[in-house]
Amino acid sequence: CGIVGVTGNLKARDILMEGLHRLEYRGYDSAGVAMMDSSGTVRRARAAGKVANLGAELTDEIIGQTGIAHTRWATHGAATRENAHPHTAGRVTLVHNGIIENYKNLRVDLAAQGRDFSSETDTEVLAHLLDSAIASTGDPRTALLATLGKLEGAFAFAAIIEGEPDLLLGACRGAPLVAATGPSSGFLASDIMAITGAAQTVIYLHEGDAVIVRPNQVEVFDTAGQRVERPAAPAPTSL
Ligand code: GLU
Repeated sequence: CGIVGVTGNLKARDILMEGLHRLEYRGYDSAGVAMMDSSGTVRRARAAGKVANLGAELTDEIIGQTGIAHTRWATHGAATRENAHPHTAGRVTLVHNGIIENYKNLRVDLAAQGRDFSSETDTEVLAHLLDSAIASTGDPRTALLATLGKLEGAFAFAAIIEGEPDLLLGACRGAPLVAATGPSSGFLASDIMAITGAAQTVIYLHEGDAVIVRPNQVEVFDTAGQRVERPAAPAPTSL
């Protein structure tokens, strides 16, 4: 139900946890966070129930300058820890709002390729699809655009890739997502409020956009896969 992502920020963990608390107003039944450490390893903490329940899962090892966080409003799969986001498939760890309508067909295809699933969510299918595209193309941008071409439904998502410490991938179709930059950092969020104070410039994405965020750099691609400029504005400085 709510997404926050950050890259390149020393305070990433604080920003993600603060963002989750600010997104609580949207309603949720579980929450989770994933961060990539300086060696490129991704670690997750997930819990059913309140954001406060994450506390016990949030070990000192879950650190880094790049990460994603999520509050979930379950649509596919019960509100359990196993179904809580972020979901990991291979090198991809991903959070998602909305519904992938064609997830059943995609799951059958991915299972036929030997991929195993550890949740009942439509989201995990998206994580596998993106990982599969990254494995076959070797390029995050090409993989992101190829993956979007296979999805049906209304959704927004944010992903990090193991071994790519300065990178967030995202997209929005029928669900809100903003991109933003700050000093040597980049952000994604379902509501600018989640990153207010950390973000300096906000980029309002259009319907169907794909986005690649790096510290202080946001590249947007339209539904045709063309690089486009979107309106940027100073981010609000206080809540
Ligand atoms: N469809 C996804 C799920 O059930 C995302 C739900 C949401 O928007 O939080 O896990």
